[in-house]
Amino acid sequence: MATGIVGEFLDLKAETDADVLAMQCGDFYEFFADDAELVADELDLSVSQKSSHGSSYPMAGVPLSELTPYVNALVERGYRVAVADQYETEGGDHAREVVRVVTPGTVLETSDDDARYLAAVVRADGDGPDGPYGVAFADVTTGRFLTTTVADGGDLRAELYRFDPAEVLPGPRVRNDDGLLGAVREDLSGRVTAFGAEAFAAGRAQHAVREQFGRETTDSVGLDSTLAVRAAGAVLSYVEETGAGVLASMTRLTAYGAADRVDVDATTQRNLEITETMRGDADGSLFDTVDHTVTAAGGRLLSEWLTRPRRDRETLADRLDAVEALASAALARDRLREVLGDAYDLERLAARTTSGSAGARELLSIRDTLTLLPALADAVDDTALADSPAVAVLGRVDRDRATALREELAEALAEDPPKAKKGGGLLKEGYDDELDGLIERHEAVNSWLDGLAEREKREHGLSHVTVDRNKTDGYYVQVGKSVADQVPEHYREIKTLKNSKRFVTDELAEKEREVLRLEEARGELEYELFEELRERVAERAELLQDAGRAVAELDALASLATHAARRDWTRPALTDERRLDVEAGRHPVVEGTTDFVPNDLRLDADRGFLIVTGPNMSGKSTYMRQAALIQLLAQAGSFVPARAAEVGLVDGIYTRVGALDELAQGRSTFMVEMQELSNILHSATADSLVILDEVGRGTATYDGISIAWAATEYLHNEVRARTLFATHYHELTTLADHLPRVENVHVAVDERDGEVTFLRTVRDGPTNRSYGVHVADLAGVPDPVVSRADEVLDRLREEKAIEARGGSRGGESGDGERSGGDGDTQQVVFDLSSGSFAGDGSDSGPGSGSVSRNGATAAESEPSAAATDSDTATTEPRAAAGESDAADPVERALDAETRAVIAELSDVDVAETPPVELLSRVQEWQERLD
Ligand code: ADP
Repeated sequence: MATGIVGEFLDLKAETDADVLAMQCGDFYEFFADDAELVADELDLSVSQKSSHGSSYPMAGVPLSELTPYVNALVERGYRVAVADQYETEGGDHAREVVRVVTPGTVLETSDDDARYLAAVVRADGDGPDGPYGVAFADVTTGRFLTTTVADGGDLRAELYRFDPAEVLPGPRVRNDDGLLGAVREDLSGRVTAFGAEAFAAGRAQHAVREQFGRETTDSVGLDSTLAVRAAGAVLSYVEETGAGVLASMTRLTAYGAADRVDVDATTQRNLEITETMRGDADGSLFDTVDHTVTAAGGRLLSEWLTRPRRDRETLADRLDAVEALASAALARDRLREVLGDAYDLERLAARTTSGSAGARELLSIRDTLTLLPALADAVDDTALADSPAVAVLGRVDRDRATALREELAEALAEDPPKAKKGGGLLKEGYDDELDGLIERHEAVNSWLDGLAEREKREHGLSHVTVDRNKTDGYYVQVGKSVADQVPEHYREIKTLKNSKRFVTDELAEKEREVLRLEEARGELEYELFEELRERVAERAELLQDAGRAVAELDALASLATHAARRDWTRPALTDERRLDVEAGRHPVVEGTTDFVPNDLRLDADRGFLIVTGPNMSGKSTYMRQAALIQLLAQAGSFVPARAAEVGLVDGIYTRVGALDELAQGRSTFMVEMQELSNILHSATADSLVILDEVGRGTATYDGISIAWAATEYLHNEVRARTLFATHYHELTTLADHLPRVENVHVAVDERDGEVTFLRTVRDGPTNRSYGVHVADLAGVPDPVVSRADEVLDRLREEKAIEARGGSRGGESGDGERSGGDGDTQQVVFDLSSGSFAGDGSDSGPGSGSVSRNGATAAESEPSAAATDSDTATTEPRAAAGESDAADPVERALDAETRAVIAELSDVDVAETPPVELLSRVQEWQERLD
């Protein structure tokens, strides 16, 4: 058992649940034993050995003043770090205690401007299948604090994904739900921390919330949901327990409900690349494109608007009014942005004053930012913005109180205070009489000391006299050796140096005592006064947050206006009608990087479901994402990239697009696809916008078509959501004949002399062919492969081996009952070695469907969708090759290699394999067969 300092360290460590402990030992913070090794590894500190009662322990340390960056670096890496400070006991001994645990969700000095949330999640008691859940989010760096209740695990994940918390506290039941916890871990980069279950208990949580906000606030924000309160209470307890000292800056708790926001699930947030691209980069995201904010708080708010779009028309109309006014008043806008550019981050400064970490410079920043308020008002009042909601934004700040605070700070703070909080220079002369008196006396003694050398020279006729001070000797008079024997009698020699001697006198000793006393008294009083001032500022945290919020709002609005003006965006007309009518719309991000061809879009009561066809790479995804992004921008209060747009408000935006990232994560694509589809079918309503970019590709063709078909019927007949559905199943275009609100559109191409030009223009009606081979050419697939693919494609067309059918399917009545296909589908085996077809539409089995598809990679050559009822067995493309059908005469005639190739062929999932890869595999098979 270690004793001494290491023993104390280990004891303290055992008492905390932190990963690492930093313990103050005099002028250093030390890490011992395992912690020293860990810190050394993570942060490149050097380790020494500390001997303690016969044992030796690794030890690493940092000076007191440098602890913060080290702790923050550890916290950035996901560790929770306890800090133990040293204090003096009454008996004069040193003792230590943990004063703070810095965690990813409670760290105050963060390295960027982004919001940084701590989240708590609690699940309802009882045996509900999956939820409901209460979830609360607090950004301790700004005091922002929100809570809500969500229906199930999917909604919970969407909410967590939106806030992307740095630390999550799962309540007792969530903690035991491996599935949910695993999913949350996968979605988020933040840390999951097990925090005492008691904090989530209803009684205790309620108490914590009331203590913090008062009963009235709690009642008035309508926190009737126990779950939301439980989550919020747990957050408060945790913040308190970690000693962050920011509870006072958490001035408000906002309860929000699902009804306020557009439901954008986690998958859709990812698909639409709102704050980061599918590859995980911030560059190239929607936010990155439209962000022209000049303050950190403005950037945070704009990001929040985009990630949490709204449903209430009034709020949106206000924002749009402001954006419109700002967009058309270029000069006033520039002036406003110029003033905003000087603003500091008041929300964060408020948190730092309440935590006690703000120094004089931070208070000066507050003063300077408050000084901007009149300038902001000027920038708005007498300009083209005078009648805009921008005025109301500023109006929400209590300007009189802001002025009072500004004046108070202006009177107190010195103009250029030092960084150090202690040691003088923080406050202005005239701020406090007692302090002024001390300063005066201190300076009088100092000037006496300054003049001493001269006086001594003169009085005693000495040359070479200096007066100085150091740690060991205190103040002394130093006299050159040559004249050292001429000093007067009252000089007492204290030291002999090579060329000089040092002396003190009684008077000097007396002045030294005085100067030290005054120095200390002055420093102490000044710091005390400063702390009082800071506390008075902290008491007005709410005022600072209001002012900070106003700055942020003006900044975000001006940013939207700036982008609208630069890119010629238009104000969307918001309506409650179920429609999305866009004239000459563009994709907000893509338009910045290419010569974009604008397109129209109309979705309304008669035309609620568009099937989008067109060759690969023609622009289907872009067209559909553009629709979703225009919808989202409109409901964030932004202008939209179009000549004109009428946008019916939606309650949710749901997308399902290619599952590249899931593939990378090693999950079964088809399973993921079906989960996403199922989620959409459950969540979407007649007021939602649904974007489906290929459905059913992850399985065999007939399965795929059936699923896509059924999903279309369901969305059209039951859900009635506005829907855009891009598909390579050409068969689905016939749905337009049967379902009244389904229409076809296609992205046009121009084909001349075998050369395909993408026109990027969306037209009514279905397309009739696919151009995968052309894309392979563009992608640089070797010429022989491309020309061979062309040959194969031609053959397929010539021989009409496979007909695209399915016209007779689909329940016109909408009752889901399907009529059978027209039956006589032709099935053939495509012989790769000869490039021709063998056999006909018998139940030939092995790889029949797949073979034809491989050579062609063309949607047009997809097998018919006649796979219904009695046809199902005969057209099943997944029948195992070379096994059950070995009795087939065609099959038996094949050699082993051919059969192997066919077996491989039948295993290929054409729909899921990129055309380029298919082509190269065709080439490989060809070589093996030759
Ligand atoms: P698809 O979904 O049909 O395979 P994409 O939507 O992925 O095609 O678009 C293919 C390429 O065409 C992308 O690089 C995209 O930037 C470009 N593109 C799409 N639509 C347009 C347009 N309207 N104007 C200009 N370029 C476009």
